[in-house]
Amino acid sequence: MKKPLIILLIATKIQITYNQLNQMKIMNNYSVARRKLLQLGTIALGTTIATKATAFQTNSFQKQETIKETTIALDTLGENSTPEKVLEELLLGNQRFVENRPESRNQDYIRLQEVSKEQKPLVSIMSCADSRVPVEVIFDRGFGDLFVVRDAGNIATPEEIGSLEYGTYVLGSKLLMVIGHEKCGAVKAALEGKPLPGQMGSIIAAIQPAVNRANKEDSEKIYTDTIKENVRLQVKTLNSSPLLHDLVEQGKLKIVGAYYSLTTGQVSLVRNKNGEN
Ligand SMILES: [Zn+2]
Repeated sequence: MKKPLIILLIATKIQITYNQLNQMKIMNNYSVARRKLLQLGTIALGTTIATKATAFQTNSFQKQETIKETTIALDTLGENSTPEKVLEELLLGNQRFVENRPESRNQDYIRLQEVSKEQKPLVSIMSCADSRVPVEVIFDRGFGDLFVVRDAGNIATPEEIGSLEYGTYVLGSKLLMVIGHEKCGAVKAALEGKPLPGQMGSIIAAIQPAVNRANKEDSEKIYTDTIKENVRLQVKTLNSSPLLHDLVEQGKLKIVGAYYSLTTGQVSLVRNKNGEN
């Protein structure tokens, strides 16, 4: 083999190694990177590989340090902030998700270890059980951030209310959000009014008052309108809890309704008919 060809082959191999390292960085998996590197092994490439691996190890460490700083900043926000500020911060996370620039906040192993000692979630959430509404994902949040209760139709049953009282009164969430979503099957079933087997009928019964309140004049919008009416209904039910109501009165808690679009990922606030949250 002629010399230029050997140099070209080595250069190509180095390029492949570099690209693979970049991919592995994204996976954030140093052990996989090292295993792949060993598979490549030639003596000629050994020095280059070792240098790249060390560089990657350093970068990985720096990344972890950055995440830790972010985590501390979020904790400070949680302790000192107002319910309004927490709401603003939560919606900013949704905006990052919608714009496809997530920061994967608090989703790393360091955060897992931190919150294994205790939890102080900024936000409590009541959402539908629908598989298309992964709450932490749509708000770009992670371990220890959100205290989440989910059931079909995001209805406030006694057990759900008790759980949310725990999330707010005991754990200290400053924001309680009820999230309804586009194309909710539970609301659709309530609109159709057909009998359902098993205990599913209890879900429909809990949504029925929202069906009665929805605007029937616009047949195209009735589905969305009922979903939003259901959110208002559940917010009202939560407000009827003396424990939650007291927290609201003391300015320690804000209860808001929201609507999640399955098609855009956007979370928008569902206000009362008088324009308040
Ligand atoms: Zn649903």
